[in-house]
Amino acid sequence: MKIIDILSSEKITLSFEVFPPKINSNYKSVLEAAEKIASFHPDFMSVTYGAGGGTSEYTLNIAEDIQKIHNVTVLPHLTCISSSKSHIHDMLHRIRNMGFENIMALRGDVPKDGPISQEYHYAAELIQDIREIDPNICIGGACYPDGHVESANKNEDIGHILEKVKAGCQFLTTQMFFDNSVYYNYLYRLREKGITVPVLAGIMPITRKIQLERSISLSGTSIPSRFRAIVDRFSNDPGAMMQAGIIYAAEQIIDLIANDCTHIHVYSMNKPEVAFGIIKALSSIIRPSSI
Ligand SMILES: Cc1cc2nc3c(=O)[nH]c(=O)nc-3n(C[C@H](O)[C@H](O)[C@H](O)COP(=O)(O)OP(=O)(O)OC[C@H]3O[C@@H](n4cnc5c(N)ncnc54)[C@H](O)[C@@H]3O)c2cc1C
Repeated sequence: MKIIDILSSEKITLSFEVFPPKINSNYKSVLEAAEKIASFHPDFMSVTYGAGGGTSEYTLNIAEDIQKIHNVTVLPHLTCISSSKSHIHDMLHRIRNMGFENIMALRGDVPKDGPISQEYHYAAELIQDIREIDPNICIGGACYPDGHVESANKNEDIGHILEKVKAGCQFLTTQMFFDNSVYYNYLYRLREKGITVPVLAGIMPITRKIQLERSISLSGTSIPSRFRAIVDRFSNDPGAMMQAGIIYAAEQIIDLIANDCTHIHVYSMNKPEVAFGIIKALSSIIRPSSI
């Protein structure tokens, strides 16, 4: 099913993200985690893609398994920053042959020491390319409530989001944020610029302090002092941190839904217990019929 059709219904949607292993020996455990998350019947699952393309086989294999065996709609990711057009066209061909109707089109982080594409510079070029090859495939793109780390300011960044939408991106998923007011403000600015596509709220339940630190250093996401205090208080106790992280994320989701932001994408980080914790915490809010 196309994700844009899932998003156009009235219902609250809940989706989860998994990432492929970097090495073959971890493949089985990642696949098991992805399958477990798929067994919760989310509205869809996304499977990320290594920026260098080195783990593309794993992305497609995991995506195919979830879609075929578990009958869950899948959004495979594709990045272009290290790829030639012919490689991207080959990947696209394979994605369509495997029966996927959706694709998350990304630039990827510019590698410090890996190859850099001479043919793609930004995600909008990839989106345009995909759209020209396949007018029907549903295309998603990334957006950044705190601003993308490389952009000079939010206005300029939002201008480039508009280019992605004009190129054929039909929905956006945000980078993680921990302060809903940042998301509401961003959504207002997107709408003001004429960007009307659905904007899925990306929520990351933090279950370890190191996960938070890594995420902030990569993304520049702002941390509200209330959340900082929670992490400082509980990070030495894994069970308590897991519980606090899930509850904080669930509270964010409740607030989003209360404010009519009904498409929630959870960065579940290959952790079925985190995905289940969120589902359990919201069991009367996102009813089983809608997950
Ligand atoms: C929901 C989501 C999913 C992700 N999944 C993956 C994944 O699977 N694999 C992975 O490696 N990474 C993933 N990322 C990370 C992402 O690849 C990085 O954030 C990357 O640095 C930017 O990718 P993008 O597609 O947003 O790039 P772009 O939209 O191309 O933007 C990148 C930067 O370039 C600027 N820009 C855009 N167009 C222009 C222009 N014409 N002129 C000048 N500047 C311009 C933008 O303002 C921004 O600062 C994901 C991020 C999100 C939010």
